[in-house]
Amino acid sequence: MSTSEKHSFQAEIQQLLDIVIHSLYTDREIFIRELISNAADACEKLRFLQSSGQAVVEPDTTPSIRITTDEAAGTLTFTDTGIGMSRTEVVENLGTIAHSGTKAFLKQLAEEKKADAKLIGQFGVGFYSAFMAATQVSVLTRSCREGEEACRWTSQGAAGYELEPAGPTPRGTQITLQLKEDAKSFATEAEVEKIIRRYSSFVPFPIELNGKRLNTVQAIWARSRHEIKEEEYNEFYQFVAHDHEAPLLRLHFTADAPLAIQSLLFVPSTNFESMGMGRVDSEVNLYCKKVLIQSKAKHLFPEWLRFLKGVVDSEDLPLNISRETMQDSALMQKLNKVLTSRFLKFLEETSEKDPDLFTRFYDEYSRFLKEGVVTDFTHREALGKLLRYESSTTEPGKRTSLAEYVRRMPAEQKEIYCLLAPSREAALSSPNYEVFASRKFEVLFLSDPWDEFVMEHLHTFDGKALKPAEKAELDLAEKPASALTDDQAEGLAKWLKESLGERVNEVRVSKRLVESPAVALDSDKFMTASMRRLLRSAKRDAGAPAPARSDLEINPAHKLVAQIEGLRQKDAPLAAKVAEQLFDNARVAAGLLEDPREMLRRANDLLAELLASKQA
Ligand code: ADP
Ligand code: MG
Repeated sequence: MSTSEKHSFQAEIQQLLDIVIHSLYTDREIFIRELISNAADACEKLRFLQSSGQAVVEPDTTPSIRITTDEAAGTLTFTDTGIGMSRTEVVENLGTIAHSGTKAFLKQLAEEKKADAKLIGQFGVGFYSAFMAATQVSVLTRSCREGEEACRWTSQGAAGYELEPAGPTPRGTQITLQLKEDAKSFATEAEVEKIIRRYSSFVPFPIELNGKRLNTVQAIWARSRHEIKEEEYNEFYQFVAHDHEAPLLRLHFTADAPLAIQSLLFVPSTNFESMGMGRVDSEVNLYCKKVLIQSKAKHLFPEWLRFLKGVVDSEDLPLNISRETMQDSALMQKLNKVLTSRFLKFLEETSEKDPDLFTRFYDEYSRFLKEGVVTDFTHREALGKLLRYESSTTEPGKRTSLAEYVRRMPAEQKEIYCLLAPSREAALSSPNYEVFASRKFEVLFLSDPWDEFVMEHLHTFDGKALKPAEKAELDLAEKPASALTDDQAEGLAKWLKESLGERVNEVRVSKRLVESPAVALDSDKFMTASMRRLLRSAKRDAGAPAPARSDLEINPAHKLVAQIEGLRQKDAPLAAKVAEQLFDNARVAAGLLEDPREMLRRANDLLAELLASKQA
């Protein structure tokens, strides 16, 4: 008696299948790579269970992958002797999606229509690519754990799947595809062989096609650099990264001390997080003497290096180490530190030897480096050397390193200055830039509000403090001719404080303004105006730093300031109104004015008064 049960798919999978079945026609062959990759994962998991001493059924069956084609029946079958699945695991793994990237992928598919099928594996839904080529997919599987019954899963697409118990079945998983009419070529041996050779030659388990062995398992990372061809590297990269492009950067290195390491690391050409995929997971597999210990090893690299793909092989790792103890073992931390330092050194060398290539890397991945500065104290200094910014000295669009900046510093300059502004033009016309133009001190231009936090965390470079321009305590190169005496200027500042009252924190006579009448500054010693704005928008509710009362600095050499001084003797109410407007204008320039309504009303009043006086 059959006890077949019908199940429906989670909504996301229905949606995914709908698109996979009806809209993806190019690069359909990648489903073969995805199913082989799943079979290889299952074999790796089995080998790991065995190497860590756990009992499995059929312990003498070695993990391998068999593929058979049947042209007459129009079927293609993948069989592995890997870990298999229990009934519960089948329901979980082939009916729901845990991976967070799926929604992003769906969105991309829906938006682009012609969506890139090649990416499907990266989004953790590779299994469903089978439906690009098949009208029906059936999965017969038996878990490697004692006491689990085999079961059969069958689906014809979005409508759902059927699940039934199966009789005696060998350990592992067998997936059979009933091919679509226009996909029958995937049942011919020659075609399938071509595809497997293209995509799966690096799978570390034997692959047989209709009884013929296809791949020779090779650990490319253990071979000498000189004998490996560029194409071999790229093929290996495409295998580990599920990518179809060539990598942007490659580091193949061997070390003996303090740890024996053979490693082959890649940086993809595209930063996948920037494509709206959500957070990517590190895909660096950890081996010991060519035996896989952990795929996508966690904690092998710091979080901010999660874009790396590749392999690390260390013979210093104990083979039977368990995944849990590995995560916090001292050995893992040491490995992490050595690998990270080596990779950072590689980036620095690349920036010297091939600046254009480094620029391409920086354009894609600078966000990760900055995340590293903020989160990773151990490597902060090395990361600081990799930062690049436009500055008042660089040509527009070009960037400088902090090291080059320091080399250009005149003897009397003690600190490194940076100024946040939406554009180069905005930076150059900011009141906060005037004193630097006068002193001929270079200023780094930051364009992302987070860059101020990056600089704050970096704190110093080469022993020199990193300072936001608005916090610099500098005087102009020469004091400009002023219409006001020092006493008059001080008197005006005092009057302004009285007149503006609670709205302003402190009013000072500025030593740094040339063109601007006044500048508004955050009264905090460390926080800049934009930092406060960012923090306030990040946490709108409790815990947000209150809107501080700004400081105001006035330029005694500016005509408008001198006029206010004259006016306050003759028409104090008008002078007070102009002073308020001066203050608000400065707050607008600094991005500190949150509600402009009052300011606009006053500006209109002042205009009306001006016109009335002209007509009088
Ligand atoms: P991913 O491989 O990224 O996890 P897939 O959609 O390719 O996503 O596969 C989903 C899940 O189904 C896998 O994580 C695995 O648990 C399970 N699975 C798929 N194929 C097999 C197989 N041949 N053997 C055992 N489990 C499998
Ligand atoms: Mg997969």
